[in-house]
Amino acid sequence: MSLYRPRFDPDELPAIVARLLEELGEDVTREGLVDSPRRVAESLRFLTEGYGLDPAAIVGDALFHEDYDDMVVVRDVNFFSLCEHHLLPFFGRAQVAYLPKGKVVGLSKVPRIVDAFAHRLQLQERLTRQIAEALYEVLEPNGVAVVIEARHLCMEMRGVEKHEAETVTSCMLGAFRNDKRTRSEFLELIRTRG
Ligand code: ZN
Repeated sequence: MSLYRPRFDPDELPAIVARLLEELGEDVTREGLVDSPRRVAESLRFLTEGYGLDPAAIVGDALFHEDYDDMVVVRDVNFFSLCEHHLLPFFGRAQVAYLPKGKVVGLSKVPRIVDAFAHRLQLQERLTRQIAEALYEVLEPNGVAVVIEARHLCMEMRGVEKHEAETVTSCMLGAFRNDKRTRSEFLELIRTRG
């Protein structure tokens, strides 16, 4: 996994944003915009900080040895990401499940792993697979399943798709891929919501 290394000095990104605003025909000295280059730069740094985060390090000391081997499902993990084609947001919910094999993870770590991959320039398909593969690698479980439903503002704002269409992607590994009953149980669990 490629970890983020700052390539520019801290003043470089705001200067680039200021240049972009000028190119859009804006006056970057007017009151409403004068701090925008700095704010946009900070916001972009935050929304791409996932490049510097390692899932194994996030799980860290929250990995416990436990004989529990029934399905663990973490539902409705909200996330925000940026599509790599337009740098516009896509956002939604991830449904994450795994079948432990001697190791369980502190449940608060699952949303942090989702964010570690969401806070990058992404494709929904790749985001789904990266979350599943990272959990598979770290937990060494009998299986991992990830389903993501998301809305893409690059489609909605640019008029490609007028209504609030949701895109659904899934990645099934191990027992979720090989055992139809396990997969059905998971899909049933995420369908029946409180
Ligand atoms: Zn896009």
